[in-house]
Amino acid sequence: MARRKKIYEGKAKILYEGPEPGTIVQYFKDDATAFNAEKKDVIDGKGVLNNRLSEFFMTGLNQIGVPTHFIRRLNMREQLVRNCEIVPLEIIVRNYAAGTMSKRLGIAEGTQLPRPIVEYCYKDDALGDPLVTEEHIAAFGWASQQDMDDILSLALRVNDFMSGMMLAVGIRLVDFKIEIGRVFEGDFQRLIVADEISPDSCRLWDIETGQKLDKDVFRRDLGSLTDAYSEVARRLGVLPKSNVAKPTLIN
Ligand code: 5GP
Repeated sequence: MARRKKIYEGKAKILYEGPEPGTIVQYFKDDATAFNAEKKDVIDGKGVLNNRLSEFFMTGLNQIGVPTHFIRRLNMREQLVRNCEIVPLEIIVRNYAAGTMSKRLGIAEGTQLPRPIVEYCYKDDALGDPLVTEEHIAAFGWASQQDMDDILSLALRVNDFMSGMMLAVGIRLVDFKIEIGRVFEGDFQRLIVADEISPDSCRLWDIETGQKLDKDVFRRDLGSLTDAYSEVARRLGVLPKSNVAKPTLIN
């Protein structure tokens, strides 16, 4: 069998040339990294869970008209996606204070924000993905004003969709990061949601107990990462519900 051409290997995924022009195979690894790869481990099964969860979220977004790169899942660890040119920004949407926002502004983790706050970081591992303003983005030509309008609208639509999905299963969407890609259709370019949406890139807290069900479990040594991700997948119906008693039929 011919070997596939590897295009790029990142911290959590490998990209291979896809079977048709304009496509890419995205392979989810079990590697977990945090703090700009200062903390590393291999977590059995993480890649399988993120492949399924990202498929679930991207499919839902496609269905409500939010364009994403997702085409179809190929197997346990791989999905076929549209090739796109990644905008060099991490788009972060926050509903509650946590992580770097809490540190930077001295706001207690878990404080509800007056409205969703969107932040932009410049994608550069060597610099630790620094926070940037729209001034930097415009001045350095990373995205146009029209792109920024579209990116904001996509980010807020993803936030509404994800918040609702999570609320329905008793999980609070604290914050998340997405990446945006450009695709060219004839003379036009379109922006689509790319990369992945998974507990690696979101903060997810159980609404009742506050238990963390996301990558902070790894970052902060809070227990088993696969147990946390499996819990999210089980609640969303992405994994078969094992050990769940059958409902009792009355009459
Ligand atoms: P913070 O800025 O508080 O570290 O992160 C905000 C949100 O964006 C969190 O949900 C976090 O998981 C996500 N995030 C920020 N940077 C990255 C990144 O480089 N990779 C991933 N997977 N998620 C990130």
